[in-house]
Amino acid sequence: MADVFHATGFKRTLDLFKNGRFEEGEILLKTLQDEYLAVCEENEALKSQLNEVAEVLDLAERVEYDGQKYWLNEDGTRKGPFCQLCYDRDGILVHLQSHGTHWECQSCNSIFMAPKPSRKPTKLETPGKVAPKKTIPLFLERELG
Ligand SMILES: [Zn+2]
Repeated sequence: MADVFHATGFKRTLDLFKNGRFEEGEILLKTLQDEYLAVCEENEALKSQLNEVAEVLDLAERVEYDGQKYWLNEDGTRKGPFCQLCYDRDGILVHLQSHGTHWECQSCNSIFMAPKPSRKPTKLETPGKVAPKKTIPLFLERELG
């Protein structure tokens, strides 16, 4: 184990120098230095991983789900909407392009129907054309043509 090696390595190096075995001491010291640098590198990697996680958590706190799409609260303003599928799958916010009656994701081509004021917003527009096996409600396959 590296920890054990560290704990004993310094003492061993000291002993070697005390006993006049300078060349062996130098070799051991070099090994310890390499290990130290590797630990520093690992530490930096862990730090940046931690930052990434913190950013993801921070984003998750500011993201709002309206039952269909995501919105981002940024300094009191609501930005979006963003694609539900892309965020849930990849953790990235992809802006939806507005097409009047629906929004479209340019990344995964998902279509999000815009709710009509006179109708219940949860109703699908074309129930007959909805592809089977859809697990995500309110998510329609892009119609070709
Ligand atoms: Zn998408």
